Amino acid sequence: MTTVVLMGPPGAGKGTHAELLAGRLGVPVISTGDIFRAQVAAKTDLGRTAQRYLDAGEYVPDEITNAMVRERLAAEDTRPGFLLDGYPRTLDQVAVLDDLLATQGRSLDAVVALRVDEEALVRRLLRRAEIEHRSDDTEDVIRRRLQVYGDQTVPLISLYSDRGVLHNVDGNGEIAEVRERLLQVAGALTPAG
Ligand code: ADP
Repeated sequence: MTTVVLMGPPGAGKGTHAELLAGRLGVPVISTGDIFRAQVAAKTDLGRTAQRYLDAGEYVPDEITNAMVRERLAAEDTRPGFLLDGYPRTLDQVAVLDDLLATQGRSLDAVVALRVDEEALVRRLLRRAEIEHRSDDTEDVIRRRLQVYGDQTVPLISLYSDRGVLHNVDGNGEIAEVRERLLQVAGALTPAG
C-alpha cells in the first residue's frame, strides 16, 4: 500500500510525470485538476461551478474539492494506494485528507514536492498556453495561480517537512532529467520493486 502526494506550483510538471510515477508505484493517479476539467467538459453542475474558479486562477472552495476527493478515495481502485496530484492545496484539505486516511487505517507515505524556479514556471506555462489553449493559461491568470499557490499551498511544504514525509525533487531542467530524479524517489518508496 503506497500513498503519495505530488506537490508543486502550476507548471512544475506534475501532470507530465504523475502517470509514470504512479505506474512505478502500482497505484492510480488522482488529479483534482483533471477531474474538474472533465466535469467542465461534461457540463455537469459541479463543472459549471468549478469553471468560474478555474478560469480565474482561484482554488475551487474547499468544501466542494474535499467532497469530490472523499468520494474518489472511496473507490475500489485506490485499495493498493494512490498518487494524489494537486491535492491537498490548503490547510483545510490537509486536515480532511488526514481524517480520511485515519478512517481507512492509512497514513501518508510520502509527499513529493517538485521545486522549479519562478521564471521557468511562467515560461513553461506561456508555452503550454500556445499549444493547449487551456482557459487558465493566460498571463494574468498564470500570475494569479502562482500567487494563490504561494499564499495557500507553500505553507503545506514545511508542514509535511515537519512530519518527516517530504521529498524535495528539483524540477528544473529537461523532462528526462526530472523523470530520473522522481524515479529515484519512487524506488526508495518501494524497495521490493
Ligand atoms: P495547475 O497546478 O497547473 O494550476 P491543475 O490542473 O492542478 O493545474 O489545477 C487547475 C485548477 O483546478 C486550479 O487552478 C484550481 O482552480 C483547481 N484545483 C485543482 N486542484 C485543486 C484543489 N486541491 N483545491 C482547489 N482547487 C483545485
